[in-house]
Amino acid sequence: MATYYIKTNRVFTALRKYGWIFTVLVALGGTFVEPKLGLAVIGIMAGLIGTSFFKGRYWCGNICPHGSLFDSLIHPISLNKNIPKVLKSKPMIIGFFLFFMYNFGGNTLNALEHWGDASFWNRLGMVFSRTYLMVFVVGGLLGLVKNPRTWCQFCPMGTLEKVSYGVGTKLNANKNTDKKLTIESKDKCHACGKCARVCPFQLEPYTNFSENNQFDDINCIRCGTCVENCPAGILSFENERNALELKLNSDLEGYEDRQKILAALTDIQDLGENIKEFTFEFTSPKSVAYKAGQFILVKLKDSESMYRAYSIASYNENNKSLRVIIKKVPGGYGTENIFNQFAVGDSVELEGPMGEELVVDKDAKKVLFVGNGIGMTPFIPLTKDTLKHRKDIKEVAFVHGQRKEKDFYYHDYFLNLAKEYDQFNYLPIASRPENSTTSKGYVMDGIKDLDLTGYHIYMCGSPRMITDTMNLLLEKGVPKDRIFYESEEKVKEGEEKGNIRKQKKTA
Ligand SMILES: Cc1cc2nc3c(=O)[nH]c(=O)nc-3n(C[C@H](O)[C@H](O)[C@H](O)COP(=O)(O)OP(=O)(O)OC[C@H]3O[C@@H](n4cnc5c(N)ncnc54)[C@H](O)[C@@H]3O)c2cc1C
Ligand code: SF4
Ligand code: SF4
Repeated sequence: MATYYIKTNRVFTALRKYGWIFTVLVALGGTFVEPKLGLAVIGIMAGLIGTSFFKGRYWCGNICPHGSLFDSLIHPISLNKNIPKVLKSKPMIIGFFLFFMYNFGGNTLNALEHWGDASFWNRLGMVFSRTYLMVFVVGGLLGLVKNPRTWCQFCPMGTLEKVSYGVGTKLNANKNTDKKLTIESKDKCHACGKCARVCPFQLEPYTNFSENNQFDDINCIRCGTCVENCPAGILSFENERNALELKLNSDLEGYEDRQKILAALTDIQDLGENIKEFTFEFTSPKSVAYKAGQFILVKLKDSESMYRAYSIASYNENNKSLRVIIKKVPGGYGTENIFNQFAVGDSVELEGPMGEELVVDKDAKKVLFVGNGIGMTPFIPLTKDTLKHRKDIKEVAFVHGQRKEKDFYYHDYFLNLAKEYDQFNYLPIASRPENSTTSKGYVMDGIKDLDLTGYHIYMCGSPRMITDTMNLLLEKGVPKDRIFYESEEKVKEGEEKGNIRKQKKTA
């Protein structure tokens, strides 16, 4: 059964990975061994109030030792359920803040009465250590049975941060330092909801970006989990001025024809285990122009605002229809919805066409296409379109990687193209072939001996394949500006050799 919220890594720095050690040291060490350890919390409180004045709840997502505990230790074993609304409500936040301050303030005053005594610092340290222990126990338990960041919804320190941030904003003191979550362009958003599904605070950025493309929710802890997971790679943290610049300079080539489309689902074909091909005929508008290499968004059923991106698998004959090939992902929220609820005759909302990464450049003279797994899909139209319409392109090759022979759907289609067009070289390669006549290996093995001088290269598939192939291509001396890719998931920039970049066309 697919669940909405996704458990994904939230720990991106050493501070976030190991900050919990401080929590354990102060909560347990301070309460049971050396009370003075608790005095370190005074620095924590000063730090979070000061940071939030300039950067909102940045502390919670990046520095807080309890946050580290929740994300590093609790998250992997948490039930990761919905955070109860009541715990996010204003009465809860204000009520708990007053209750906490009453107790904490009372205990601190009691300790202050012993000012000058030998026991004073121990007494004061114990107030902080016990408070830390209480958060450790209550926050930890809530994190296990609900969601790791449940405590943070009403944490009194979070409330203090919001007050401090409000003052900083009122005084206009954080205009440059306040880096909010920013979307480069709403037109490039896939509306996939992944930013909301991975958010530790269960916020919904993608439906709430402001006019200037920023996410103004005061509870955003600027943790970057959504930035890391956005498949479109369009999220970052920017101050107001940079957000505006990003918006104005966003390259919208390939996204300018995006529109809402109503379509009838006219055919569903089984192509293999958990792989289906869906044919849509446009009903409103009746005609939609799209280019080989673009993708389309398919709206999920019973969902107000969630779509999934699919490469267009059909060669556009007449602007009347399109096909997509979808692989069912185990535990996948969207593909479970599509495989279980979509039926021939349904009216389905699409949005697009979108994308330009795989659209073949005007100045390309030789082209290599590389696709593995479900990532072979865009090359169905791309090969045909290039061979049919780009007479200036003298060599076209397609390295098609799958696991076994039965996974090479559209195999005959590519073989026929190779028969019809002398300039087309079709290179299927299987990692686990079942008969000895099939080339064995990964796509890199199919590429390593090719002479790629003068080639433009277009890749689609798993992030691992793209990263490895990119490294190989760079080693072979292919210039970076001739390598283009698209992936079902975000490919980590700078991974491996530190030279991976999402390539943008320069037109
Ligand atoms: C430009 C583009 C083109 C694409 N083209 C195609 C295409 O042609 N064909 C195709 O099949 N796909 C394509 N995709 C991928 C597609 O958009 C979807 O991402 C895919 O169908 C999976 O969607 P889902 O909702 O079923 O999976 P999701 O629910 O979003 O799951 C995504 C991943 O997270 C994991 N996950 C889900 N829930 C949890 C959880 N609770 N805890 C831990 N992990 C979890 C899943 O196992 C999976 O690995 C494309 C993507 C992009 C960006
Ligand atoms: S919106 Fe993004 S940055 Fe903000 S808390 Fe959620 S995941 Fe973190
Ligand atoms: S593409 Fe998906 S993850 Fe990225 S901003 Fe849009 S909805 Fe969020």
